[in-house]
Amino acid sequence: MGQGYPAIRKTSQTIINGAWVLYLTSTAEPARVRVAVRLRPRNAEDLLSDADFADCVEIQPELKRLNLKKNNWSSEAYRFDEVFSESASQRRVYEAVAKPVVESVLSGYNGTVMAYGQTGTGKTYTLGRLGKDDASERGIMVRAVEDIISSTSGSDSIEISYLQLYLESIQDLLSPEKINIPISEEPKTGKVTLPGALVVKVQDLDHFLQILQTGEANRHVANTKLNTESSRSHAILMVNIRRAVHEEENEIPSQEKDSKGNLSYDCSIPIVRNSKLLIVDLAGSERLDKSGSEGHSVEEAKFINLSLTSLGKCINALAENSPHIPVRDSKLTRLLRDSFGGSARTSLIVTIGPSSRHHAETTSTVMFGQRAMKVVNMLKLKE
Ligand code: ADP
Ligand code: MG
Repeated sequence: MGQGYPAIRKTSQTIINGAWVLYLTSTAEPARVRVAVRLRPRNAEDLLSDADFADCVEIQPELKRLNLKKNNWSSEAYRFDEVFSESASQRRVYEAVAKPVVESVLSGYNGTVMAYGQTGTGKTYTLGRLGKDDASERGIMVRAVEDIISSTSGSDSIEISYLQLYLESIQDLLSPEKINIPISEEPKTGKVTLPGALVVKVQDLDHFLQILQTGEANRHVANTKLNTESSRSHAILMVNIRRAVHEEENEIPSQEKDSKGNLSYDCSIPIVRNSKLLIVDLAGSERLDKSGSEGHSVEEAKFINLSLTSLGKCINALAENSPHIPVRDSKLTRLLRDSFGGSARTSLIVTIGPSSRHHAETTSTVMFGQRAMKVVNMLKLKE
């Protein structure tokens, strides 16, 4: 990944109280957004409603290739970083797609894991599955936090916020009375925060499972109360980690020993790093009918689609190296500012169903994933 781009790593040093202190002033390393496709197993609906059922998807995992059949004679081939067939386990998907992001986050970088696809293709299954009865079914949210808990110590802190974005309004899924949370951006650093959102400090995995369950229940209540179509809302899990990181790799060269020959920079002294993991279960990628179906006016329909449409526009602009990236057009793109074209490590999972009935939607979902593969972020440590 990112071949051809030099890693930039600058250091500077100064003397404080007679000792050399080394500062890492800037670290930036290119990392392309990684994109995986996951095919959902055929379900009863696929079988029932397709009188002459036909699969339109052929998966070649070893070639990391996916063929979308147009008809009996022709098909289009697409390559991805990973291609998962319907039999891929939750564990495999986590390890191939999300684990590298989690490891980056544990080293102090920001990270994002996101699922994009038509409603019913497995976004929530992939990300949000609790797996209460069967731990092998656990999704990425649970596995990621489990890994973070086991890699951190009591002196580190793991804080969770869980939000829903619908009709350009952010609701707190852990504190349902908070229904219009503003986004705050630091003008200098561009750092995005949600100061109004409830932050819960995680104690252990059981505690996190309770948090997720509360969030899911609140999502259900909020959607009923606000008459939200849940397929049209984005769910965003934020995991903020504050952690003491040992910087062994920054050993000071020998000429920077002090006059007594002692190493003046003690690599065993940890540096405190703040990093953020975002796990985003996006709204269904299917287009709303232009006439405003589902009981919405044309204006409402536009508003419902705004965040997802502007995410697509930003990814297109980034893929084409356009000088203008319209991040400010929607709340979702403001929240994901660091995830695409920013300094985070990002993985995108594109979910699709097998049925030829949805050939057009599946093609447009796959094309979105192809464009996202062209986005290169510059990983940067956050001091
Ligand atoms: P989405 O969130 O994209 O609308 P869901 O995650 O709710 O879709 O999945 C739709 C249905 O398909 C659910 O009943 C889910 O349990 C099932 N499903 C999705 N992906 C898989 C999978 N890989 N294996 C088994 N069942 C799946
Ligand atoms: Mg869902």
